[in-house]
Parts: sequence; C-alpha cells; structure tokens
Amino acid sequence: MTAHIIDGIALSKQLRADVARRAAALRARGVVPGLAVVLVGENPASQVYVRNKVKACEDSGLHSVLERYPATLSEADLLARVDALNRDPAIHGILVQLPLPAHIDAHKVIEAISPAKDVDGFHVASAGALMVGQPGFWPCTPYGCMKMLESIGYDLKGKHAVVIGRSNIVGKPMALMLLQKNATVTICHSGTQNLKALTLQADVVVAAVGKRNVLTADMVKPGAVVIDVGMNRNDEGKLCGDVDFDGVKEVAGWITPVPGGVGPMTITMLLVNTLEAAERG
Ligand code: NAP
Repeated sequence: MTAHIIDGIALSKQLRADVARRAAALRARGVVPGLAVVLVGENPASQVYVRNKVKACEDSGLHSVLERYPATLSEADLLARVDALNRDPAIHGILVQLPLPAHIDAHKVIEAISPAKDVDGFHVASAGALMVGQPGFWPCTPYGCMKMLESIGYDLKGKHAVVIGRSNIVGKPMALMLLQKNATVTICHSGTQNLKALTLQADVVVAAVGKRNVLTADMVKPGAVVIDVGMNRNDEGKLCGDVDFDGVKEVAGWITPVPGGVGPMTITMLLVNTLEAAERG
C-alpha cells in the first residue's frame, strides 16, 4: 500500500485564492486587511519566516508592515510598540516573531497583544477560547493540520488520534481541536512510555516533536492518517520531518510530506486569521 499524499502546497493555493477573494471584497468596502509583523534581533531562521509571511500577505492582497528592531530593544519599548499597534485601525493582526532575545519576557509581550488582533493565537485568551469552544483565533499550525484533515473529508468522530508533542503552540491546541471534532485523543510527550503501543492504535497520528524518525513504519496502523509537523535537517542538510516518510508511506493511508505539507499551511492560516480579524472589524 502506498499512502495518498496530502499536498499542503496545493491546498494552500486554494485557501489563499479564497483569502484573496475575501480581501478584495473588504477592499471594495474600504477596509484593507493589515498584518503587522514585529521582528526583534537577527535570528536567521526568524528572518526567513517573517519574509515569507510578508510576501504571502502581499500575494493575497493583504497589507503588511514589517517592523524590525535590534536585539538590544528594551522590553518596555517593545511593549510600547505593541500598544501602538493595538490602537492602529489599519492593523487587524499583530504577530511578534518568536524567539525574542533573552532579556524580553515573551509571555508578557504576547499577553500585551489585543486578543482581537492575536492572529497567531498564542494569547492566553485565545487558548482559553479554544479550550471552552468559543470563537477566537486558533494557532496557525494545528489549525492548518485540521484543514488538511478536512480537505480529505476525514470524519474524526470516534477516531483515535494520537498527538506526539505537547507544546503550547502545536501539541496542546492540536489535541483540543481534534477533541472538538469528537476524536478520542491521546497526548504523548518525552515522558510517555511505549509510544509505539499507542501509535499502533491510532487512526490519526500528528507528530510535533522536532526529532527525526520519531515515527517509523512499524509504529503505524495500516491505513492511518499521518500528519508531520516536524521541521528538522537530515544528514545532507535537507529539510525533513519527524516521520520516516519513505517507510511510513508504505503503511499509512494518508501522509503529509516535509517539505510541502504543514509548513505552507501554517502561513496560509495566518492569512486566514488576519482576514477574519479584518472581517470581524
Ligand atoms: P517543542 O516546544 O520543542 O515541543 C516538542 C514536544 O515534543 C514536547 O512536548 C516534548 O515533550 C515532545 N518530545 C520530545 N521528545 C519526544 C519523544 N522522544 N517522544 C515523544 N515526545 C517527545 O516543539 P514545537 O514548537 O511544538 O515544535 C515541534 C516541531 O514542529 C519542531 O520540529 C518545529 O520546528 C516544528 N514546527 C513546525 C511548524 C510548521 O509550520 N511546519 C510550526 C511550528 C513548529 P516534553 O513536553 O515532555 O518536553
């Protein structure tokens, strides 16, 4: 058996075309959806991420502002910038790129973002809204994974979903989203014993660890859906996920590749959230 591929690039194209249509409709009403991206310091990976986010906005007809500050920016000055963006009517979404320099308390900065503009979905108010099933912004990466499941018409009701990883930005919100769709959810982490026994029972596995080959073919139930969030480098320096793709694709029913899977979906959901922030006014 060879798994069907869930193509994050193709799905992103469809979703971004819809964003562009809705952005054009807003513009016709005099509203230009706007995202502010704040980057502090020179982290090379962060620079690539913010550039991609700004470009994706431009391509979809969203206005974006990139604010770059030196790593020496004080916490107070960053909080003042966030406050100004909260009050700026041209800005509907605010994203502060993480990680921040060590002298800045990232939690404090995220909490300073207005929940109405929290398009990354990292604010405690957004996490709480997801927890209790109220409207709010969902973190882009797990939200993108849910869209991938939706794109294949997968009904999660009664299915066993195993999430590997419990971070606040991927694993935990992922588990809550799956639960909301009536899956039975198991959350695994570094202290989990006998991971294989759990993943072998799973109809859906989401791997969000950050280590190569966390999920191998012998750990997957035939026909399962495998979503690979991981972003790692292999021995040749090429981007790869947490899943042993070549082995697992022979067992799984559906699988997301790396690159070309969850990565593009994450940026797409940022556009969707920004557009929704503008639509909500
Ligand atoms: P993180 O904060 O480092 O969390 C990793 C999680 O994996 C932790 O909960 C950890 O458990 C768990 N873990 C570590 N080793 C494990 C093991 N051997 N077995 C089971 N669980 C284990 O990472 P993250 O921010 O969630 O990101 C995870 C991966 O996704 C990274 O590769 C990251 O680059 C990638 N990512 C990709 C995108 C995208 O757009 N594609 C977006 C975000 C993140 P403990 O809690 O016990 O430490």
